[in-house]
This record gives sequence, structure tokens and C-alpha cells, in this order.
Amino acid sequence: MTRKVLVCPVCKSTDVELDTGGVSGKYYCKSCGYIGSYVLEMTEGEYEEMLKMEEVEKRHDEKE
Ligand SMILES: [Zn+2]
Repeated sequence: MTRKVLVCPVCKSTDVELDTGGVSGKYYCKSCGYIGSYVLEMTEGEYEEMLKMEEVEKRHDEKE
């Protein structure tokens, strides 16, 4: 079974959890304080892929 992770759309942290009690149905990012009903849900493999892609993009930016 593949584990799914919740990812903050703002800071890309996986330190995301359902807001306390789940009353609002919103998610809370402990890393940047983001609160919203929208978070990214992906497998751990997909998450690692995304981090790799971002690193490549950053390196590309530094060159310019
Ligand atoms: Zn965040």
C-alpha cells in the first residue's frame, strides 16, 4: 500500500494536519500557518519527485 501525504500548497511542507476537531473541514500547516480547505494530496513518491523538480528550477533561476 502506498502512503499518501498531505502537502501545503504554500510552503510544500508535509507538516499539514486537519484543523483541530475537523469542524471546519480545513487543513492547517504547522510550518507556515496556512489554513485552508485546499491541500495537495500525493503519494510519497510523487512528493519526492516534486521536491526534485523544484530543486532543478531553483538551480536554473540562480544561473540567470
Ligand atoms: Zn505551509
